Amino acid sequence: MNRLGTVREIRDAFRRGERSAVDVCTEALSCIAMRDPELHAFNTITGEQALARAAAIDSDRARWIDRPLAGVPVALKDNLCTRGVRTTASSRILEHFVPPFDATAVARLESAGAVIVGKTNCDEFAMGSSNENSAFGPARNPWAPDRIPGGSSGGSAVAVASGMTPLALGSDTGGSIRQPAALCGIVGLKPTYGRVSRYGLLAFASSLDQIGPLARTVEDVAIALTVIAGADPADATTAAEPVPDFSAGLSSHARGMRVGVPQTLVDQGVDGEVTAAYRAALDVLRDRGATLIDIDLPYAGAAIPVYYLIATAEASSNLARYDGVRYGFRDRGTDGDSTHRRDLDLKTMYARTRARGFGPEVKRRIMLGTYVLSAGYYDAYYLKAQQVRTLIRRDYERAFEQVEVVAMPTSPTPAFKIGERVSDPLQMYLADVFTVSANLAGLPAVSVPCGFTGNGLPIGLQLTGRTFEELTMLRIAHAYEQGK
Ligand code: GLN
Repeated sequence: MNRLGTVREIRDAFRRGERSAVDVCTEALSCIAMRDPELHAFNTITGEQALARAAAIDSDRARWIDRPLAGVPVALKDNLCTRGVRTTASSRILEHFVPPFDATAVARLESAGAVIVGKTNCDEFAMGSSNENSAFGPARNPWAPDRIPGGSSGGSAVAVASGMTPLALGSDTGGSIRQPAALCGIVGLKPTYGRVSRYGLLAFASSLDQIGPLARTVEDVAIALTVIAGADPADATTAAEPVPDFSAGLSSHARGMRVGVPQTLVDQGVDGEVTAAYRAALDVLRDRGATLIDIDLPYAGAAIPVYYLIATAEASSNLARYDGVRYGFRDRGTDGDSTHRRDLDLKTMYARTRARGFGPEVKRRIMLGTYVLSAGYYDAYYLKAQQVRTLIRRDYERAFEQVEVVAMPTSPTPAFKIGERVSDPLQMYLADVFTVSANLAGLPAVSVPCGFTGNGLPIGLQLTGRTFEELTMLRIAHAYEQGK
């Protein structure tokens, strides 16, 4: 399953002249051809372009040899704009949308020597926790294809977990990188808000969205973060913080590190096997030299309602641009009977385009978000949510006076069966209980595999770090990974 190897292995083999970019790309494409018909990780496979690009890299080795991702095949979540390659956000409304530009993160990957092999399946506009909200059908969990891979970056997680690519990018608004990484048994990193440019990411909730890597090892996500991080004039919310080499200085111990354990929070509604794996992970961290410290995050219990108010409010405004006029799908129907045909008036065209173009979950969110922003309800819902968001951030600030990272399970349950929760949106939203607060507080967080359930489903450990201290967080995650 893992013949391709890790990012680090592929890059090093390319440098030593043992594997060409074309060889690696061919292997990735044949794995995709073999596994993707069942797993549906990809919306679009760019095989020909990828091979041409790999050949170009091979024919100019001197130029690429020192680049951090030389010859590494990468899959991109289908909400990241790629010049000349269809970018759908798994929505009918963008089914045929071909962007004229690359997202900054994509351009940075390419100048680091990466070979893009395709665009991955996800929940429509990244709204979901299971990938079942894709207009093109769900991706499937490689460990149990009757189960969800998690969402919304499900296809990216599946591509990596099944060995199709060693690296993928996803986006994380409330857990969409970490949760599928956990459910598919790989590493997923959401950087600090402002660490990675959002230019070219189809916006869901702009104050929460971040792009980040999914890979099989902590070292690989660290390598990828180093490539995509940093200020970007095209995104005014990016920070001028210096970007260290996140993969340098990873070690196998966590001596001197203090890990916060919010026991009261973790005790609520968590699957027994997840709790057991979490406890065992804490023991490993202790063995690696870390000190465990009890902490309290009193407002974290409110994170789900706060998130679903703010995220839907921002989504309703961001998605107003899909009107059938500027890009994407347009309902070109006509009105009237056969003798008096006339084109739709503008308002009807908008309404029909949006009615046919968006799926049910996206519509639900637009309606919820429009409601909480409307006159008379704004103060009671949106403003209140913003206030509690500040309290959640302060909870973490207080905790970080005592600890370097906070440890929690990534997801309260392992992967559930496809179809099991589709009729119960609230139940679906509860899957985000441990992930949304990092987005609300703008903090970096990483999910690392921490074992399996009795029936072989992966479980993830989440570490949340201080603002712009991904380096420390990744060091602790790496020490854990080496020790388990
Ligand atoms: N599951 C959450 C939601 O449905 C998070 C999605 C995300 O991070 N993009 O909104």
